[in-house]
Amino acid sequence: MRLLVIEDDPTIAEPLRTGLLREGFEVDLVDTGADALAAGACDLVLLDLGLPDLDGRVVCRHLRERSNVPIIVVTARGEEVDRVTLLELGADDYVVKPFGFRELVARIRAVLRRTGGDRLRDGDALRIDVGRLQIDTRTRNVSYDGRPVALTPKEHDLLVYLARDPDAVHTREQIIDVVWDENWWGSTKTLDVHIASLRKKLAPEIIETVRGVGFRLVDAATST
Ligand code: CA
Repeated sequence: MRLLVIEDDPTIAEPLRTGLLREGFEVDLVDTGADALAAGACDLVLLDLGLPDLDGRVVCRHLRERSNVPIIVVTARGEEVDRVTLLELGADDYVVKPFGFRELVARIRAVLRRTGGDRLRDGDALRIDVGRLQIDTRTRNVSYDGRPVALTPKEHDLLVYLARDPDAVHTREQIIDVVWDENWWGSTKTLDVHIASLRKKLAPEIIETVRGVGFRLVDAATST
């Protein structure tokens, strides 16, 4: 995995590069927006918003205009961060300085998993059909047995994750790692709440608990 790190502060950039290399990433480091826009292809972009030459937001928008590469924006504490604006610019996630290295790596891996191979090409709708369940990941429309189902964003992400590999058992750790960005110790109960909510909104039997391991989505067409 090749990361493009755009960071003009060498006291951040150098240790970051060293750490990321140690994590097994390849790292291209640039310190200006112009160099960022001239850089070659990569698997993920880590973009500092405060750059010496160009506004990081402009860089983000330009990068997004020409590719679907996942982008994590790095902002300084106190900088006015409008999450909605960042998402509109095409960022996939953001971290605020000073950030912990482990947290950053967890976020990088989460974004890579979430976007890996699933990026839409040329605006094609990506449909998932499992038995009576239908998901359009582009419009985020979900229906079950032909009935539209309204889900929260996290419920949707969780369902999509399970439905991409139906019948496979996913451990709690895997699910939390991929679907939640936050520290997972805080999320174990959150996962149960979301599973319960999906069962209620879809069908109780659609998600099976594999005791002591995790969960799996069951193909509803064949299970009944
Ligand atoms: Ca900076």
